[in-house]
This record gives sequence, structure tokens and C-alpha cells, in this order.
Amino acid sequence: MLNNSKKTQGKKLASKVTVPKSPPREPTAEESAEMERISERIKEMESEIQTQKESNAKLFEEIEKAASYQDDHNRVLDSITDEKTEMLEEIEQIHQTIQGCRELEMQKSMGNQYEQLTKEKDSLANAPFPWQKCGACQNQYSQEEEDRTPRTLACGHTICLGCAKHLIHKNKIKCPFDEVVSIVGRGPLATQLARNYRIQDVCEQNM
Ligand SMILES: [Zn+2]
Ligand SMILES: [Zn+2]
Repeated sequence: MLNNSKKTQGKKLASKVTVPKSPPREPTAEESAEMERISERIKEMESEIQTQKESNAKLFEEIEKAASYQDDHNRVLDSITDEKTEMLEEIEQIHQTIQGCRELEMQKSMGNQYEQLTKEKDSLANAPFPWQKCGACQNQYSQEEEDRTPRTLACGHTICLGCAKHLIHKNKIKCPFDEVVSIVGRGPLATQLARNYRIQDVCEQNM
């Protein structure tokens, strides 16, 4: 069907080109041969055009396919970009969480350090100076409690009255630091051993 119509078209074209309308006469052998060649050429061209059309159609199809691939590709790229953005956001959040944890950790450790230092400071502030304590029993001297009052021995060392009471043997007290013996008279020790007012006074000032 297609071929027939083509042939007809070819002949029509050939007749248009080569056959004059008037005066009517038989074509010469040369003219007939020429017409035949032209007709053949037209057929060839038609076939070439058809081939070209088919090839164009294929090409168009491929272009469409490529375009759709491009679309898919773009969609994939978009989704990858979205995923990347999401991941970056997640990473940022994780980073912030880590940062927060670090800060919290730092605050905690600083808090602990501060607490520790405060404790040390308090204990240092409250700790008695060495001269505020009896060197024998390590108890703090006190004016209120008689046994905690500082008493001077003959050697010059000072201990609390309580320690003196423990150390007295007959009427002698052996100094716990240098073993020098102090001889004390009769009567209560509190009256026999002189108070070390110097120590007592500075203790009172620092309490
Ligand atoms: Zn002594
Ligand atoms: Zn003592």
C-alpha cells in the first residue's frame, strides 16, 4: 500500500518534471531513459528519506529516553542532596550534643574542683595552727575547759593541763619532748603549773 502510493507519487513527480503538456507527443527513447533514471532516483531518495525518518524516530526515542534518564538522574541527585543535607543536620546535632556533653562534663568537673577546693579552704580555715594544739595529745587549747589550758613546764615546753595530769608521777613531770623533769609542789596541778598566757591569748584571738 505504502509502496504503491510512493510509486504513484514518483511517477506523478516524474511526469510533472519531464512531460510537457503541449504539444502532445511520444517521448523519445532518450527522454524515456532519462525519465526512468529520474524515477529510479526519486525512489532511492524516498527510500533514503524513509530510512532517515526511521533513524530520526529512533534518535528521538533515544533522546526521550536520555531525557527521562536525566530526570531520573536529577531525582536521584535531588534525593542524594536531601539525604546529604539531613545527614549534615544530624551530624551538626550530634556535634552539638557532644559539645553540650563536654561543656556539662567540664562544668561538672569544674564544679567538683570548686567543691574540693572549697572543702580544702574550709578545712584549712578551720584547721588549728600547730601552736593552737597541745603537742602531746594534739587537742586544741581552750580557755573554757581547764584541762585544755596551756601549761608551761620547767624546760620551757608547753602542754595541756590534761596531759600534765597524765604525765605526773609523784611530784615529777617528764617533758614529752625533751624528757626534762619538772618538779611540782603540793596542791592541785592547775595552781602549780603556770599558764602559758601568750599561747592562750593568741588562741583566743584566732578562734
Ligand atoms: Zn621540754
Ligand atoms: Zn595535751
